[in-house]
Amino acid sequence: MNASELISLDAAELARRIHAREVSSVDVTRAHLERIEAVDGPAESGVHAFLHLDAEGALAAAEAADRAIAEGAPASPLAGVPIALKDNLTTTDMPTTAASRILEGWRPPYDATVVSRLRAAGLVPLGKTNLDEFAMGSSTENSAFGPSRNPWDLTRIPGGSGGGSSSAVAAGESPLALGSDTGGSIRQPGAVTGTVGVKPTYGTVSRYGLIAFSSSLDQIGPCARSVLDAALLHEVIGGADPRDQTSVSAPLPPVVEAAQAGARGDLAGVRVGVVTEFSGEGYQPGVLGAFTDAVRVLGELGAEVVEVSCPSFGYALPAYYLIAPSEASSNLARFDAMRYGLRVGDDGEHAADEVMSLTREAGFGAEVKRRIMIGTHALSAGSYDALYGKAQKARTLIVRDFTAAFETCDVLISPTTPTTAFPIGERADDPLAMYLADLCTIPSNLAGNAALSVPCGLSADDGLPVGLQIMAPALADDRAYRVAAAYEVARGDTGPRIPELRALETTR
Ligand code: GLN
Repeated sequence: MNASELISLDAAELARRIHAREVSSVDVTRAHLERIEAVDGPAESGVHAFLHLDAEGALAAAEAADRAIAEGAPASPLAGVPIALKDNLTTTDMPTTAASRILEGWRPPYDATVVSRLRAAGLVPLGKTNLDEFAMGSSTENSAFGPSRNPWDLTRIPGGSGGGSSSAVAAGESPLALGSDTGGSIRQPGAVTGTVGVKPTYGTVSRYGLIAFSSSLDQIGPCARSVLDAALLHEVIGGADPRDQTSVSAPLPPVVEAAQAGARGDLAGVRVGVVTEFSGEGYQPGVLGAFTDAVRVLGELGAEVVEVSCPSFGYALPAYYLIAPSEASSNLARFDAMRYGLRVGDDGEHAADEVMSLTREAGFGAEVKRRIMIGTHALSAGSYDALYGKAQKARTLIVRDFTAAFETCDVLISPTTPTTAFPIGERADDPLAMYLADLCTIPSNLAGNAALSVPCGLSADDGLPVGLQIMAPALADDRAYRVAAAYEVARGDTGPRIPELRALETTR
């Protein structure tokens, strides 16, 4: 089997072949490392999905997986399959930067729980992927190390903050990746790169070792090219963890079973609610067209499709941009030059508080500083009630909208994003335009329920991928998987899974 074939296979199929010993994990890993070598650099014109590669470590992990398989004991259904890790997950054998100068070169002393679980399951970590600094952004342009590029059009953004993970999966550099989703950073990159991205129910995947952005919203989840692959990865990383105080003790919903059942079956009896607030002005016609087609397909599968109104969803964006910066301003206080990474002005001339502020001035980028200032203001004595307190009230109203909607619907759907991938640079100087990219994804972070994005074809106006968002109640992630898997089969082939990469000069 040649390398270009290997990089186009789904994780489930790769695992099947590796476990049947038709191909070795080492060969599969090599094929992906070669693909990365061919398309990831240079940063100015390549995909630039990776901030750090660990070829040696990956090959050693692949060899270990091959040995276990030869002994008849693969560690898990995904043993031997390569994976890429968002660089806000701690790893003992690779640097962890959160794409910030303030953490440049930092080597964490411990692995994130999800990373330990991947290793125990025999997956093969290839390296660390690019993100917006501290996961703040929707395009990866806020990375201190330069943006990643969308494999569908290298002049466009791959989404954010997890644009490195989504572009790695879309470009065939890795069949799987992990991301983190605070306001949409797994689902929005999935949508704009034509890949699957899942935000599990809050608390069902451990956040231990995830560099905290907004702790009441952050959730780690899978990125993949198929719904089943995402489910397989979800089961490897999910489940209770005593090291995370917000970890939920309830058993993980049976997402693999649901993905398999969905792919085999129809959707008879499933009640699907179309959120009426997520359409109209500001939505790209091609996105709405693809979404309307998806609604039709769900109806043909036997789902009962109705419209539902969630009137408070309109408050989600402003509420999020008070709550997330507030929590971030507190979480980022730990980067004080005394414990991690960068230290500026430690020359005997400056007092400790001066070293702290010089370091934070030099180490944080503009968006991170903006959020710290907004958050500090929203939490200050004079503004707390009017800003942070109000935002928390809006959050409650959003939770109530979900509760009411899920009384009559099994899942809710919307476009994942209002537009397809925008050109790099287009919104870089306009934070408010950038924030709009997460209009549809934020409500599920505020409410903590499950949501995913599954590819729903290409937009008729620009030929770029569109995502269908499927939202399910907390701890009913399996419902979203079932609907997504049924839809994925019914949607049929919408073109190449891995787009042909054209050099920047020709796409410009
Ligand atoms: N784009 C949103 C933000 O900038 C969401 C980020 C995320 O989910 N990490 O905050």
